[in-house]
Amino acid sequence: MKLITILIPAYNEEEVLYKLYHRLSKVINNITNYEFELLFVNDGSKDQTINIIKELRETDIRVSYIDLSRNYGKETAMLAGFDYTRGDALIIIDADLQDPPELIPEMIELWEQGYDDVFAKRKSRSGESWLKKWTSKSFYRVLQKVSRIKIEEDTGDFRLLDKRCVRALQQLRETQRYTKGMFSWIGFNKKEILFDRDPRAAGTTKWNYAKLMDLAIEGITSFTTFPLRISSFIGVIVSFLAFIYMFVIIFKTLFFGEKIIGYPSTMSVILFLGGIQLLSLGVIGEYLGRVFNETKNRPLYFINEYNGQREPYLKGLENLREYNNEREKEFNENK
Ligand code: UDP
Ligand code: MG
Repeated sequence: MKLITILIPAYNEEEVLYKLYHRLSKVINNITNYEFELLFVNDGSKDQTINIIKELRETDIRVSYIDLSRNYGKETAMLAGFDYTRGDALIIIDADLQDPPELIPEMIELWEQGYDDVFAKRKSRSGESWLKKWTSKSFYRVLQKVSRIKIEEDTGDFRLLDKRCVRALQQLRETQRYTKGMFSWIGFNKKEILFDRDPRAAGTTKWNYAKLMDLAIEGITSFTTFPLRISSFIGVIVSFLAFIYMFVIIFKTLFFGEKIIGYPSTMSVILFLGGIQLLSLGVIGEYLGRVFNETKNRPLYFINEYNGQREPYLKGLENLREYNNEREKEFNENK
């Protein structure tokens, strides 16, 4: 029987984990012809997240977890999940229930039809401000223009990946990660399904505009050197104009003389050129920084504790289902 791993990165998600677990198990208990593994990655949470995960594991043998040594960010938490997954397919889902687990059966169906990467595309984004929607939209527009690979707009990390994709992703070990771009970069057979993205079930988003800005720069610098090209391009144009202006000045001085005026024009030229030089330096610096970070060649994360497959993993699926239903009843009564 095929095993499907569900990867759930969680950072300070104590308020939603039970809810998530219940909605998820409701869905997967109804899918009888697969085994499931719920792989939680605790990304250095400062609240009760890890204890809740451990408690879930006590009652449900499908639950396994990776406890990272500190908060590494979602991108790295997902990589840890890729490394430890055992399934024939992997489903990545946010802990906050913004990605409806009810889509999972449809994803599996498409996977069985031969697609390797079934990703969920948002029809709507309720619960997000117009500013976030707008910035996100313009970011994708820019990214699409400057990079050669197509990066899907309005898709998150909610998707089903075949083992082949997971193996590919395990090999992309950049420190500054933009996973959404990697999904596109590795290729394979892709298929989209549409859904309505709900607002967070509880808790607050871990993103702020500074982090999003970081991710945007990451997205651009990790997939294209286009900004470097732009600075060369601007450099060429500006030097060309400067060259022409030099001739104008020389001829003007030769034929009409010069009575030291022109402070404003000198200043504007200096400021303009200075600005452009700083800008280009900044762009070069961004790339240099990436080179620096990659050359350190550090491991991408450390694991505090991994608790996976419990022996014997399966005594037969019927037993498992019975066992889980009992636990669920127990759990509901205690609550
Ligand atoms: N997350 C994580 N590490 C972090 C930040 C977030 O593992 O440093 C997880 C978080 O628990 C959630 C998912 O990444 O499961 C998406 O985070 P969030 O809901 O805050 O992002 P948004 O939906 O607002 O983009
Ligand atoms: Mg969210």
